[in-house]
Amino acid sequence: MSAVPGDPVQTDRADAGDVLLDVRNVVKSYGASTVLDGVSLTVRRGETVAIIGPSGSGKSTLLRTINHLQAPTHGFVVLDGDVIGYRVGPRALRQLSEREVLRQRTRIGFVFQSFNLFPHLTAVENVAEAPVSALGRDRAESTRTATELLTRVGLSHRLDAYPRQLSGGEQQRVAIARALALEPELILFDEPTSALDPELVDEVLSVIIDLARGGTTLVIVTHEIAFARRVADTVIFMDHGKIVESGPATQVLDHPTHARTQEFLALVR
Ligand code: ADP
Ligand code: MG
Repeated sequence: MSAVPGDPVQTDRADAGDVLLDVRNVVKSYGASTVLDGVSLTVRRGETVAIIGPSGSGKSTLLRTINHLQAPTHGFVVLDGDVIGYRVGPRALRQLSEREVLRQRTRIGFVFQSFNLFPHLTAVENVAEAPVSALGRDRAESTRTATELLTRVGLSHRLDAYPRQLSGGEQQRVAIARALALEPELILFDEPTSALDPELVDEVLSVIIDLARGGTTLVIVTHEIAFARRVADTVIFMDHGKIVESGPATQVLDHPTHARTQEFLALVR
């Protein structure tokens, strides 16, 4: 219902339906190189979206833009219909203040390929830290919650282990528990299993499948096609900074209509 294409969504909550995330016409350029070339997508509350595509197609850049780790050159991102969106560039409408960016970022969890745990903190300390430092929660309470979350991801016996004492699969499960500790409305995963030895992939994927079943809203960049088919409601195929094709998982994965999607799937299968 926006009057001008590309302008912020009018926030009539009744009309917003259950759209949680609205990415509108996002462009990201580095000098002459355009990495995201007009990407638009919406994610509904409780939906699981898998993003697939060749290396260099802009998948990580898209996730970083959604999480405000970098600003788009054009376009904007809206979370939860509350115009916590922004547009920057020559015709800047409104740029988020640092405080608004931080607030929005605490509502979005991010799980990286490389785990990114604090090496000097135990598993339970890694999970308990952000609620204390970012949300001002009580440390004892946060530690109790962290223990529950680590139990949920199957690590009740590893609470006091340091990252170096954990396998890659265990570290990634700690990272997932850490993301959950901020009670995010949305969790972004950037190739969560691609740094893992093959025998450790399933323990991480099954935790993500449990989250999806539990109704958490997820956007997952992955090369695991069988996993995408199993977990995702919607699959998006990206190439050269554009969404080439998107739709229900089985449609995109089993009956892709675009030649590029067909070629990519033939290569990764
Ligand atoms: P993907 O995650 O799909 O592999 P990326 O989003 O990481 O793709 O990168 C998309 C393209 O953007 C790549 O060609 C990459 O080299 C380029 N790129 C990413 N970050 C930067 C940067 N900071 N400066 C210049 N180019 C970048
Ligand atoms: Mg990437």
